[in-house]
Amino acid sequence: MSEGPRNEPTFRESVDLMYNRAVALMDLPPGLEEKIRVCNATYTVRFGVRLRGQIQTFTGYRSVHSEHMEPVKGGIRFATAVNQDEVEALAALMTYKCALVEAPFGGSKGGLCIDPTQYDEHEMEQITRRFAYELIKRDLIHPSQNVPAPDMGTGEREMAWISDQYQRMNTTDINARACVTGKPLNAGGISGRVEATGRGVQYALQEFFRHPEDVAAAHLDGSLDGKRVIVQGLGNVGYHAALFLSEEDGAKITGIIERDGALFNPDGLNVGAVRDWIVKHGGITGFPDANHVEDGAKVLEQDCDILIPAALEGVINLSNAHKIKARLIIEAANGPVTAGADDILRSKGTVIIPDMYANAGGVTVSYFEWVKNLSHIRFGRMQRRQEEARHQLVVDELERLSSDKGLGWTLSPGFKEKYLRGADELELVRSGLDDTMRIAYQSMRQVWHGRDDVTDLRTAAYIVAIDRVAKSYRAKGL
Ligand code: NAD
Repeated sequence: MSEGPRNEPTFRESVDLMYNRAVALMDLPPGLEEKIRVCNATYTVRFGVRLRGQIQTFTGYRSVHSEHMEPVKGGIRFATAVNQDEVEALAALMTYKCALVEAPFGGSKGGLCIDPTQYDEHEMEQITRRFAYELIKRDLIHPSQNVPAPDMGTGEREMAWISDQYQRMNTTDINARACVTGKPLNAGGISGRVEATGRGVQYALQEFFRHPEDVAAAHLDGSLDGKRVIVQGLGNVGYHAALFLSEEDGAKITGIIERDGALFNPDGLNVGAVRDWIVKHGGITGFPDANHVEDGAKVLEQDCDILIPAALEGVINLSNAHKIKARLIIEAANGPVTAGADDILRSKGTVIIPDMYANAGGVTVSYFEWVKNLSHIRFGRMQRRQEEARHQLVVDELERLSSDKGLGWTLSPGFKEKYLRGADELELVRSGLDDTMRIAYQSMRQVWHGRDDVTDLRTAAYIVAIDRVAKSYRAKGL
């Protein structure tokens, strides 16, 4: 958690404050309002692992916020700052996020207090498997009950260990692989999951820029092309978002903030080169072609068009909110803006695309992976060649008409190859993600522009999400 000023609410309190602000504009019975807000249960586990000749004790959590739909879903985070408050805040956000993007899950989250850099791969495997064992035996990892995914400090490797651990403990469960998402492709994963959250950030921005009225609200104009972007955290989410925005949309990444400082270059940074440097040297320090700023967090305050906090929560708080110059903030991380900072930024006219929408690409593609695991077949496997054959018929017919009638038609260069190729899994995943991000944005903006008492996207997002969760509780007779 961030070290904001003393009167800064905790992350969970921040989420509750934002929830309360939205719910005050809704007409829910007080009992239901409370039922949706509270976290159903948080399980704390302490377990020992024998490492380097002695037992080390670890503390982990799995929190279930709402079971209005099951399974519940949410990542597992490995970090030293993990605590119950944080896990509960993140679980609540998952409930609202899933509702907003219409992924049929309740909200959950898990975390393990650990610094993964202190252990080698074999030790990490022992620790992860042991943590998974503790959760699996209580159905806190289960294809139809609770399905984790990667989060900060975890990735495909950890998900593969968790999946394998579940399979060892449930040898006859034919749906075992659906117990966790974010797995490597060869262990039941889906194409496009690693990039999904960053890709979702890109699709969210593309959709935002399709609405000139919204762009104007952020005191911006035009398209993403040439926009100056600062990114905090060049991990899974930040890296992919920055890469796609710079390579595909013409945005200029002018600042990258990491643990060991920040890089700044008004002409734009080469995201791939910075990432390679980090992988090789363990940080950004020493990267050529940029100014190095020791106090990285200061770069959050640099002038830019779009700020993408993609590292951790609470980084924009009461101490720096009034100094933020970005016109548009897209919360790729969960909870990067505290409730107090949110008030300040709103009154300054900064537009914030909220976390529950902005980083929903991960859970959306996780949903596709879960469906893939339950259906035991790769997306596109049945249709692809049939689609190609039908397209071939059209091309053949056009070519026949052209030559029979002597019309001399020729197809545009590259058209035939593009048109004839049936969609593979990656293309289908991206299409499903793009569609999800567009529709969810439209549902938020309808409330944002459609109601006089809603002046920001976060409140709009909460209203859409809470309304859906409430409907689902009501349908259950609650
Ligand atoms: P990650 O571990 O891959 O990357 C985090 C990055 O932030 C790392 O590069 C790290 O060095 C950097 N970082 C850490 N502390 C920092 C600091 N104080 N200042 C600057 N940089 C710092 O994690 P991730 O999966 O990319 O997750 C980042 C955020 O996105 C988290 O809030 C997470 O909850 C959220 N998120 C992730 C996913 C996902 O699919 N991975 C999905 C939804 C939301």
